[in-house]
Amino acid sequence: MPRSAPGSSTAGHPGSRRDPVLPLVPVPAPATTAATLLLNATYEPLCVVSSRRAIVLVLAAKAEPVDVTADVVHAATVSLPVPVVARLTRYVRVPFPASVPLSRRAVFTRDASTCVYCGGSATSIDHVVPRSRGGTHTWDNVVAACRRCNHVKADRSLAEMGWKLPQPPRTPSGAAWRLLGARTVDPRWREWLGVPESVSA
Ligand SMILES: [Zn+2]
Repeated sequence: MPRSAPGSSTAGHPGSRRDPVLPLVPVPAPATTAATLLLNATYEPLCVVSSRRAIVLVLAAKAEPVDVTADVVHAATVSLPVPVVARLTRYVRVPFPASVPLSRRAVFTRDASTCVYCGGSATSIDHVVPRSRGGTHTWDNVVAACRRCNHVKADRSLAEMGWKLPQPPRTPSGAAWRLLGARTVDPRWREWLGVPESVSA
């Protein structure tokens, strides 16, 4: 996606000088097809909205930009950088589901794409208690593992292998986790989502 240099598009934009009484509606630009992470007033991640939607919220003073791109959107009297992250100015109470759907991507995110057994790069998921021995396909029994450990362990239990988990597999919860696993995470959202850096799943 082409980006205008910062500050290069603040003057002489054809839409900004023709009609000074245009309502505060942003001109659709390619940049507004991007996505914006929307935070609650408390800075907790809330949801992902289109950047166009985020701009409308900012122009209506319902949200403020937290992190922006170099792209600028022009309305009648203002030029606005496209927000990557925006924060609602008023707190909204949103009930979140108690648990996060179990998916390969979400397991890799939780375990930072790292094999829980050897610390190597994970390429598969492993059932700690093998499914053939009654292990469940649940958050507390599924971990990220490298192919080698997965192969070596096969249908055996950790006790039989003499292996230990660094920590019990936990069930992720919270708003940030609801956003993960469902879509690609913009790297600029990471600090707000509290997810590990080495997420490649
Ligand atoms: Zn391993």
